[in-house]
Amino acid sequence: MEQIEEQNMMGLKIRIYPNHRQENIFWKNINASRFVYNKLIANSWTDSAVYKNKLDDKFPIPQKYWKYNKNGKLLKQSTVRLTGRLRITKDKYPWLGDKDIDSDMLSKAEMSYKSAWNLFRKVHSAGTPKFKRKSASIQGYRTSNHYSSTMVNKNGGVPSLFNGSIKIIDNKHIKLPKVGIVKVKLSRQLPTNNARIATVSIKHLPTGEWFVSLLLKSDQSFTTKLPETNSQVGFDLNTENFLTDSNGNTIDNPRYYRIIKSRLKKEQRKLSRRGRRAKQEGRKLWKSKNYQKQKQLVAKLHSKVKNQRLNFLHQLSTTLIKNHDLVVGENLKSKNLLKNHALAMSISDVGWRTFLGMLEYKAPMYGRTFIEVNPSYTTQTCSECSFRMGTNNTNKLTLSDRKWECPNCHTKHIRDWNASKNILNKGLLELTKSVPDEEVVYR
Ligand SMILES: [Zn+2]
Repeated sequence: MEQIEEQNMMGLKIRIYPNHRQENIFWKNINASRFVYNKLIANSWTDSAVYKNKLDDKFPIPQKYWKYNKNGKLLKQSTVRLTGRLRITKDKYPWLGDKDIDSDMLSKAEMSYKSAWNLFRKVHSAGTPKFKRKSASIQGYRTSNHYSSTMVNKNGGVPSLFNGSIKIIDNKHIKLPKVGIVKVKLSRQLPTNNARIATVSIKHLPTGEWFVSLLLKSDQSFTTKLPETNSQVGFDLNTENFLTDSNGNTIDNPRYYRIIKSRLKKEQRKLSRRGRRAKQEGRKLWKSKNYQKQKQLVAKLHSKVKNQRLNFLHQLSTTLIKNHDLVVGENLKSKNLLKNHALAMSISDVGWRTFLGMLEYKAPMYGRTFIEVNPSYTTQTCSECSFRMGTNNTNKLTLSDRKWECPNCHTKHIRDWNASKNILNKGLLELTKSVPDEEVVYR
């Protein structure tokens, strides 16, 4: 049987430890990348009607985003012309030809600019592409890997993690463009499926840490499909705990998260106090050692909270996906969030959106199905007989009704458990609807 693999890409994020010289080269490239991107953004609008974007007809720019010059002439969005980058490099900015400047970085910056526009054409809500700020907390640039046939033939014969222009030397070293060999810490096992390195990005975090992210590609899958479990599960996300599933299991919000958050608040207050004091004494913030030290501490705590939360979400989502053929969650978009500010806040806090995103990408990795359903009425409906509270002269359940009895079939319910059973039922119904006959695979 022919196997069709969808999951032949994966990201690998590695902590790197550049020395002082290497850090300087990274910063040169970070600054140049931002410079090129921002220059292109600045040249985004043109009054020449010569250039017409391929996407103009398919995705016209809405009128509210149109720009005019001072004579009232309509400006058109230009994309980079072939000579665009040359104009930026050769004419006025000879430093972009510096020996430490990575030319792949320059073309990647140009590509980012193009894809920012293409994205805008499809999704307007984010607005037209914006300048990248030097003060942004995460700084970085992208570059690409190359394979030369000589190097590949000498080392294994097929492109791998170990024979490109960017390559893993051993457990402790990686070779990167312009900086050479950098110390790394490989925290996980490398894939064994003939993976090759495609795009590479180098990032600097506000904590002072450096990371390199490798996008790996392979003709073979990075994950294995698991045997069927014949188990299905639905879950309800709620504010009292993290989730309740249709088997009655409740997962609480992690406790450590609350503890570290109160510490974070305290340190943040200290930071603004130091900022105020420096201002009063007429000192610049970047010159104030105490302020900078505190700023780094706050950034470290932030990333600690973030990491702990991500670990929690990863563990839970992997467990759900591995143990069930079908996982059904609720579509947060359909939950009326804007009306309930407190709920909206708590959603971003506990990471429900991230969690649903993880389930979505992990499901195909293990050959599982994840679907989101509209959660309306899942709380008010009896999962046994489908009677809906609020109808036939009954009162709707309120947030304080943790337990209730169905007036129609007299089943005793725990509110969130009942809701998650309804979510599973909706998912099963959705599944029968969404598969047209010709797509059903018979085994
Ligand atoms: Zn009932």
